[in-house]
Amino acid sequence: MSETIEKHEFGAEVGRLLDLVVHALYSDREIFLRELVANAADATDRRRFAALTDAALSPPADGKIRIVPDKAARTLTITDGGLGMAKDELARDLGTIARSGTRAFSQTLADASAGDRPSLIGQFGVGFYSAFMVADRVEVTSRKAGAEESWVWASEGEGSFTLAPGSRAEAGTDVVLHMKEDAEEYLEPMRLQHIIRKWADHITAPIVIAEAGTEEVAGNQGNALWRKPKSEIDEEAYTGFYRQVAHAFDKPWATLHWRAEGATEFTALLFVPGMKPFAPVEGERESRVRLHVRRMFITDEAGLLPSWLRFVQGVVDTEDLPLNVSREMLQSTPALARIRKAVTGRVLSELTNRAKDAEDYATFWENFGPVVKEGLVEDGGRRDEIAPLLRFRSSTVEGWTSLADYVSRMKDGQDEIYYLIAGEPDALTRSPQVEGFRARGVEVLLLSDHVDAFWPEQLGTFGEKKLRSITQGAIDLSGFAGDSAPEGEAADTDALVAALKAALDGEVSDVRSTDRLVDSAVVLASAGYGPDLQMQRLLRRAGRGFGADMAVLEINPRHALIRALAARLAAGEDLAEIAGTLLDLARIQDGDTPRDPTAFARRVAAALAGAEAPAD
Ligand code: ADP
Ligand code: MG
Repeated sequence: MSETIEKHEFGAEVGRLLDLVVHALYSDREIFLRELVANAADATDRRRFAALTDAALSPPADGKIRIVPDKAARTLTITDGGLGMAKDELARDLGTIARSGTRAFSQTLADASAGDRPSLIGQFGVGFYSAFMVADRVEVTSRKAGAEESWVWASEGEGSFTLAPGSRAEAGTDVVLHMKEDAEEYLEPMRLQHIIRKWADHITAPIVIAEAGTEEVAGNQGNALWRKPKSEIDEEAYTGFYRQVAHAFDKPWATLHWRAEGATEFTALLFVPGMKPFAPVEGERESRVRLHVRRMFITDEAGLLPSWLRFVQGVVDTEDLPLNVSREMLQSTPALARIRKAVTGRVLSELTNRAKDAEDYATFWENFGPVVKEGLVEDGGRRDEIAPLLRFRSSTVEGWTSLADYVSRMKDGQDEIYYLIAGEPDALTRSPQVEGFRARGVEVLLLSDHVDAFWPEQLGTFGEKKLRSITQGAIDLSGFAGDSAPEGEAADTDALVAALKAALDGEVSDVRSTDRLVDSAVVLASAGYGPDLQMQRLLRRAGRGFGADMAVLEINPRHALIRALAARLAAGEDLAEIAGTLLDLARIQDGDTPRDPTAFARRVAAALAGAEAPAD
């Protein structure tokens, strides 16, 4: 090995993945070409865009992607004039896990039975590594646009790779595959063309197959799929295109393809994924819908949709922008603002329409409902359009329900929409907060996503009915008689309430008797003003004030424990310690921890032993 060659080890997981890709899979080997060509096309697009915004760079010479089979040398070379990779990028992007989906893919593969594996690989993108399905050695020579030097990355796919200086005359990348003996079919131009037509026809860069000594043949037809009339596109073509733009492997749940005429003209081909993406990039909150101008890819950072529709994938292509549109222009151009508005409106009307089929819509809602809800907080102007799209779990009906359906089921005399904010999906059946409502058949909606702590206040009402958190303030349920409304004699709790209040001074803002409980003795509520309990908890966790002392402790006057305590108080007993235990119990039922878990455990242990707790 010459001195200029550096040897590197692959990241640990890559080794395992390589092994799976290369040895466990066989039948769909041809997709290696789709992966390499897609990378070449991405790099070409990226160089073109970089050249538009950086005067020091030139655009790709002819923008072609060349596939060069050489039977004598038994090599297949994929060449592009794209952005290229610098030395550190070669090591990083080809030498470590490049895709967020890779880890999940390798797990799925390991879990799948042998028979399922071949079809899996066709669905997933496995990226650059798929080259090792057909090659026993891969050399990548790359020169980054704007750089003077080029580098050669080489690997046998067995745990390590080398990096050495290269001599590429221009920016771009050559991927040279030294084909395995059993992979010679991929040196046949006809076979290559067939694979390109099947997998990469929607790539807009021209792909040519150039066997030495023969004419170049066109690989793809290079039609921008979105420019074709709908009647000429079948579902398979849509799905293939979706998988390419979204880096996805599922089928789209919705496909929206339309041409807008008028003040601003554009063509849009958008997809709502059928599955949640594998590992959404942390913190990624911007829409990645691609902006093309006259077919040419410009950027996927134009924010064509609001962030609460960021799961939508696809392409918008317009004639109404200049090709060299800059980032600043993207912010301010009125044409783009009109496109954003039109595209958002179209996606919303599609969702509204599809929401009529409850079962079909449930698939969508379970994947992306929490994201849509962000729009209630962020997009004041769209709130009234978003509200009818919301779906909830309910304390009285199975499955998902809408606000409109809730309103239609409201009890006589009920003029508020009741909801419970809780982290756990089973809170509707478990939470003591809901007991009194269940007993009286008053419906409560469950809000269990993170974002649910924020939007109900902003939405305020639906169909003139106020949204009301059942943990906020005292709710008078006495008007709703039910089959199993609380019965039994209520203790006179005035003295007990006063004693508890004195004992818990500084720990809660109030103590009161409630009729919202049935089986539980105590519950926490928030005062009639200020943030909801769940919100208080979030703020506390974020270190933003709101001590637990904002909460109200409510007691159930019909509960045996409360009746007994009222009697013990009347007999002159000091309940100070018991008051603290009651508060801790209420916190635990609410999914919180006791204020001092050690002291709490000691008191409970002592109570179980029938003794006084030793003093702290
Ligand atoms: P993905 O394309 O999903 O990111 P790949 O494994 O196919 O994953 O590629 C990893 C990365 O290597 C790419 O994201 C890109 O940065 C880089 N890369 C691969 N091929 C090329 C190429 N022909 N030109 C420039 N960069 C490339
Ligand atoms: Mg790729």
